[in-house]
Amino acid sequence: MSKPKIVILGAGYGGMMTAVRLEKELKAEDADITLVNKHNYHYQTTWLHEAAAGTIHHDRTRMLIKNVINTKRVKFVQDTVGSIDRENKKVALKNGEIEYDYLIVALGFESNTFGIKGLAENAFAIRSVNTARKIREHIEYKFASYNNDPDAKDSDLTIVVGGAGLSGIEFLGELVDRIPDLCKEYDIDPNKVKIVDVEGMPFVLPPFDRELAKYAQNYLESKGVTFKLSTFIKEATPEGVKVQKKDSEELEEIQAGTVVWTGGVKANHIPADSGFETNRGKIQVTEDLRYPEDDHIFAVGDVAWSSPKDAERPYPPTAQIAIQEAENLAKNIKHILHGEKTEAFVYKPKGTVASLGEKQAIGVVFDHKLTGKPAAAMKKVIDDRYLLMLGGVPLVLKKGKLNLL
Ligand code: FAD
Ligand code: NAD
Repeated sequence: MSKPKIVILGAGYGGMMTAVRLEKELKAEDADITLVNKHNYHYQTTWLHEAAAGTIHHDRTRMLIKNVINTKRVKFVQDTVGSIDRENKKVALKNGEIEYDYLIVALGFESNTFGIKGLAENAFAIRSVNTARKIREHIEYKFASYNNDPDAKDSDLTIVVGGAGLSGIEFLGELVDRIPDLCKEYDIDPNKVKIVDVEGMPFVLPPFDRELAKYAQNYLESKGVTFKLSTFIKEATPEGVKVQKKDSEELEEIQAGTVVWTGGVKANHIPADSGFETNRGKIQVTEDLRYPEDDHIFAVGDVAWSSPKDAERPYPPTAQIAIQEAENLAKNIKHILHGEKTEAFVYKPKGTVASLGEKQAIGVVFDHKLTGKPAAAMKKVIDDRYLLMLGGVPLVLKKGKLNLL
């Protein structure tokens, strides 16, 4: 009898961790495992704000998939998923198709522009290695042109960040580290550079501890960031953004050479476009992360609507949850192949730490609040712990943040 074919779509946190754990949970004779991803590398989305600001090189965030998975056990296919055909148990790829017996959808997130006029065309999003690199290069180009281009304007040195959620705040933290170096490099008076964050809520980091959010705001303001709170981005143009204060009719224009949108994320569009039953684009899954209408299909990470029992909202889209779901799913696939009962996914929150550049951070870890250098060190521990889980000590030594070498 031929072995069941397990196909994993997407090599982000959810897909990579599922692949690596399946390698361990299953014997070679149990199943054929294939991982499909559009690039030949896996990247740390959680470090992309650093690559976008240029505080780390983008190569630091990525690693070749073949160097992390055991390619004798998991076949890697570099291709782009187009659609999923559940009836015929096939996935259409840009360069062919692939059949499955068990399918794991781990296609992650996309930037959500909420239909705001001009955002898709005129603003950058921190989404992938390529988008992060584009932001860094664009900012560098604006700085490099300032003293050389006769048409250069002061507003070319203004950077607007849309949203002050965790992505926006972490990106601002990197920017305030990076701008002084850029000013030195391109002979620019630092007083000419403006960093403006526009946030619709009356405070930064809406879902976070208020005291820690205020710490982050005060720190970033002390480094020159201006926050426009209770203010919404209504439009992005080639010249900047148009914003509107809550309860005001007037639109204010902020001219800016760079606009980076961190105002929200949504699930990858492919499941909804392929006819999956979705909730706000996310595949609704059962307690064991299974698609209710087809018990051979599973979803993990940002593309899955997984939630605590009877909750109305899904778990937030975080790497932490994608990783835990992947660990649970790999065990369950083994149970299923061995005819055993599956285990419900139970999220075990460990806390959240947000970096504010290299040496500052805020966080709540196991119910303890942290700020400053201890929080920044904790963030590096969290980053390295993931590398340890994925590729063991060699990967930590190669890519880790704690500078062990
Ligand atoms: P993704 O990481 O999005 O991976 C999806 C994979 O699928 C990617 O490799 C992608 O290239 C691939 N793919 C997509 N479409 C296709 C296709 N059509 N064909 C083939 N392959 C495809 N969360 C935390 O817990 N902690 C943090 O510190 C943190 N920091 C963050 C910082 C930033 C700047 C951002 C933007 C997010 C951060 N998050 C953080 C959230 C976290 O990154 C996401 O929740 C996480 O990436 C979700 O993992 P995933 O595996 O579901 O999807
Ligand atoms: P988010 O949805 O959490 O935050 C978006 C922010 O943009 C919100 O504060 C919202 O009020 C604001 N906003 C939306 N529309 C706006 C508009 N028109 N004008 C002005 N402001 C507007 O998105 P995110 O920060 O990208 O985070 C996405 C996910 O990734 C979350 O689950 C988050 O927890 C996770 N994440 C975690 C970390 C970490 O753990 N360190 C870091 C980054 C992201």
